[in-house]
Amino acid sequence: NIPVITIDGPTASGKGTVAHKVADKLGFHLLDSGALYRLTALQALRRETPLNDEHALAKLAEHLHIHFAGDAIYLSQENVSDAIRAEEVGNTASKIAALPAVRQALYGLQLSFRKTPGLVADGRDMGSVIFPHAPLKVFLTASVEARADRRYKQLIGKGISASMQDLLMDLKARDDRDMNRAIAPLAPAEGAHILDTSAMDADEATEQVLKWWAA
Ligand code: C5P
Repeated sequence: NIPVITIDGPTASGKGTVAHKVADKLGFHLLDSGALYRLTALQALRRETPLNDEHALAKLAEHLHIHFAGDAIYLSQENVSDAIRAEEVGNTASKIAALPAVRQALYGLQLSFRKTPGLVADGRDMGSVIFPHAPLKVFLTASVEARADRRYKQLIGKGISASMQDLLMDLKARDDRDMNRAIAPLAPAEGAHILDTSAMDADEATEQVLKWWAA
């Protein structure tokens, strides 16, 4: 029975960073499930697949040739670690993530990340749908302002210009889509610990998750 820690939450809540740190500390594998939706979105954008063609999008998701090497993500042989982080790709990901056939196509792939000695899985539905029996479930949140501020600093840090107002609008639109979709809407899983990180840095949030794990 291989343990899984699920860390779900909205865009830019810090779950990616916290999931990384927790996985590092425990020597567990990591599943960045959002990356799978982003990879599918990137393929769809490149191939100009219509975003309402559920069947074609599910086929893309089913046939992704992906490969994780440390922090790098490869699609076929190409390192797409930066390409999948573009705002356009994130927005497209959140649109295609509302399609049941796409979610179904990525289901088995997500389960396959569960390997000894354990897995930290981050996303929206890790605790509610993919690993409902996980022994520790965390729902990470932060105010929309705190999240927009983090995203802004990330982008500026990478030398990418950004507008706080656009980021706030984008985040709200994405939250709205993720929370109100018919399938796997973003919400705390049953039994999840809720952690508001608005006034917390990633190390403090990681500490809290590790405390729950040890408890
Ligand atoms: O977490 P990240 O921002 O990389 O995810 C991109 C999009 O993929 C999210 O906005 C969400 O709509 C979708 N997603 C999802 N279920 C997951 C992970 C991500 O629907 N488990």
